[in-house]
Amino acid sequence: MLRSVLLYLSSARWARAIVMNFFLARRAAHRFVAGETVDQAVAAAKEMNQKGMMVSLDHLGESVKDREMAIRATDDYMEILDAIYHHQLDANVSVKLTQLGLDVSAELCVDNMRRILAKASEIGTSVNIDMESSDYVDATLRIYRDLLKDFDNIGTVIQSYLRRSEADMQTLAQEGGVIRLCKGAYKEPATVAFPDKADVDASFIRITKEYMKPENRETGAYLKVATHDPKIINETLDYAKENNVPADAFEFQMLYGIRTQTQQDLVDQGYQVRVYIPYGTEWYPYFMRRLAERPANLWFILKNLFTR
Ligand SMILES: Cc1cc2nc3c(=O)[nH]c(=O)nc-3n(C[C@H](O)[C@H](O)[C@H](O)COP(=O)(O)OP(=O)(O)OC[C@H]3O[C@@H](n4cnc5c(N)ncnc54)[C@H](O)[C@@H]3O)c2cc1C
Repeated sequence: MLRSVLLYLSSARWARAIVMNFFLARRAAHRFVAGETVDQAVAAAKEMNQKGMMVSLDHLGESVKDREMAIRATDDYMEILDAIYHHQLDANVSVKLTQLGLDVSAELCVDNMRRILAKASEIGTSVNIDMESSDYVDATLRIYRDLLKDFDNIGTVIQSYLRRSEADMQTLAQEGGVIRLCKGAYKEPATVAFPDKADVDASFIRITKEYMKPENRETGAYLKVATHDPKIINETLDYAKENNVPADAFEFQMLYGIRTQTQQDLVDQGYQVRVYIPYGTEWYPYFMRRLAERPANLWFILKNLFTR
């Protein structure tokens, strides 16, 4: 119930205006967001790199409704790619297609993606397309596949809560897709997504084991296991050991500020870990989705804010 309310609020403009002007909320968001500037994102990325972790930088923003804002968001990505090169960070970038103008026109969005991919390729890094709500899955996969014809430094995301995802992953494995698998963070109807967490988790594990099969590695398929769930992490590790999947044939991904000890433990055991670092002024929907995932965060934050 609370999860649904928080997810509704994450896209409600009236709530956004109230929360973003509330300085205590801004302070609370810092648990999940590296800061509002490129310098703060670079500092967080350097810290993760020093701990042996790779990074994916996300300049926060989504649901952009006009051309100028989409072009500005693209320019922001050019700036962070310059910073990655300048500071020699072990980092790639994560983008949202609605931030790059998908709701304005697919053509604008693809042009912006091409600029970002060309720049990323020039500096030797990659671009990952985040997956948004289920309304965007077809368009996202279509754009990903189109761009794949001209760029090999691109990946995207599949969400295990969607009923269609196992079938999508079978095709993507044959195509050699570089895919981040996550549970999924949006409010979805039961017609498209499993309502029960147990089904979402079981789907995640089935997809992981299928995708990591040796024959799929021959196509170039590569899995980024994006979860903080210890059960899924352990099942992935067991599967890799039992099936001789080398540690460099997949990676774990986790969000900035969540389960930081697990991130370090995996690195210390010799596994690849990439930390997703969001930054920028548009932190509201991202912050609300993090609260929705774990409503206990809300009470923790409220308690901390009012007992200082
Ligand atoms: C690198 C990365 C990229 C992602 N990209 C996308 C994307 O493109 N599209 C999309 O829809 N979703 C994305 N997500 C979010 C994802 O879909 C889940 O909503 C999120 O990861 C929580 O699920 P979980 O797998 O950690 O499992 P859960 O079962 O939700 O959590 C397992 C455990 O992790 C910890 N935990 C999880 N979330 C939190 C939190 N917010 N605060 C504190 N502790 C927490 C808790 O200890 C919890 O018990 C991404 C997640 C990661 C890690």
